[in-house]
Amino acid sequence: MKKIHFKQLFTGENWLTSGATIEISSDGNIDAIVEGPTPHDAVQHSGIALPGMPNLHSHAHQRAMAGLAEHSTGEDNFWTWRQVMYSQLRLMQPEHLHAIAAQAYVEMLKSGYTAVAEFQYLHHDQKGRHFANKAEMSLSCMEAARETGIGLTCIPVLYTYSGFDKQGCNNGQRRFHNQLDEYLEILRIVESTSKGYANCNTGIAPHSLRAVDVALINQLLDAVPSGPVHIHIAEQYSEVEDCLAIFGKRPVAWLLDNVDVDARWCMVHATHIDDKELRCLLASKATVGLCPTTEANLGDGFFPAQAFSSKGGRFGIGSDSQVSISPVEELRWLEYGQRLLKQQRVVLGDTHAGESLFKNALSGGAQASGRNIGSLAPGRRADIVVLDENHPRLVCRSKSQLIDSWIFSGNENPVYQVFVGGEQVVQNGQHKNEKAISARFAATMSALSKSHE
Ligand SMILES: [Zn+2]
Repeated sequence: MKKIHFKQLFTGENWLTSGATIEISSDGNIDAIVEGPTPHDAVQHSGIALPGMPNLHSHAHQRAMAGLAEHSTGEDNFWTWRQVMYSQLRLMQPEHLHAIAAQAYVEMLKSGYTAVAEFQYLHHDQKGRHFANKAEMSLSCMEAARETGIGLTCIPVLYTYSGFDKQGCNNGQRRFHNQLDEYLEILRIVESTSKGYANCNTGIAPHSLRAVDVALINQLLDAVPSGPVHIHIAEQYSEVEDCLAIFGKRPVAWLLDNVDVDARWCMVHATHIDDKELRCLLASKATVGLCPTTEANLGDGFFPAQAFSSKGGRFGIGSDSQVSISPVEELRWLEYGQRLLKQQRVVLGDTHAGESLFKNALSGGAQASGRNIGSLAPGRRADIVVLDENHPRLVCRSKSQLIDSWIFSGNENPVYQVFVGGEQVVQNGQHKNEKAISARFAATMSALSKSHE
């Protein structure tokens, strides 16, 4: 039994401001939280303990191209960005992905994410052939998670077509393509490997309605009847137009009409929905995956967050394309987008915008990951982010003001200790393996850029 005492603690629901000890059992779960002064056998930490934030949508490989798609070619949009992304990952090998994912995961941990849902669609070699181990690329991400200590929901992605009319995959997509039986082989390998890692589970993902049709989604659900299900659903308006042209329905409506969508589901980028789709999405109890910095970077559009969240809609946040790896920036821009649209202030929160966004994203992220995370309570993983109480952004703040100030004041990072499953992975703002992981990332970027020349 490990005992860690904090001066202040937010459980995800309540503030304990006169000190609290988290008792952690050997499996990394919280056994008890006891209010009061430091017991003689506890380790004392000053600072403010919060539940770690789940990152519900990540493509680790895109960390390698963050910032490299900002040069204009004249008519720039999501689809021209996608071409750049395809060309960037053309030469990526499992060892490269491992190095890039480890760098991304270190950055996540240092920013306050303690878990990541990795939506992994890069499965094959450059010629589109299986690796000797068909799950090699997904296992590279899992190894990076294990090395860095971040919690992982490993989600291999099923990608079968290149469009709503079931065209075959194009050259840029041949590393993604699988038939259902091949995909299930990959999934089974990932599932069995994940059993050796206490902070890991698995999920499934039909990539999008562009890449998988509803009949195939239903076959996938029959084969895998439990655990998280993630999908890219309505990110670009042209997807809505294509879906309408072929099926006569918008993507969210088409999915909800043909597939049993429930709380297992995470609808990533449900950006373009009408009022009826919003009501049906609420009734489904699915989580919506919002990635405001990526959605802004790609010019996707605005999700109707106020209408959704004011009716109890569940949402979480993701770093997606890794243009920013920061729960603060995702939550801040989620709120700012709505303020700019509505010309109002404090749109998504109740009385405290920062704390309210933080709470909602914790519980939505936990639901989407299908893991016992997202709050500090008995039975949950001991995933703890500790803010420096003496940081200039946080001095003379109490309770809700602390999270409001973290989210809405400045950019210096007050995260200084991070624990995942009770193990400390960030100490005084530094990850335990940061130097070696950064050096390997730099060497990998150098190797990949040379091979592009
Ligand atoms: Zn994505």
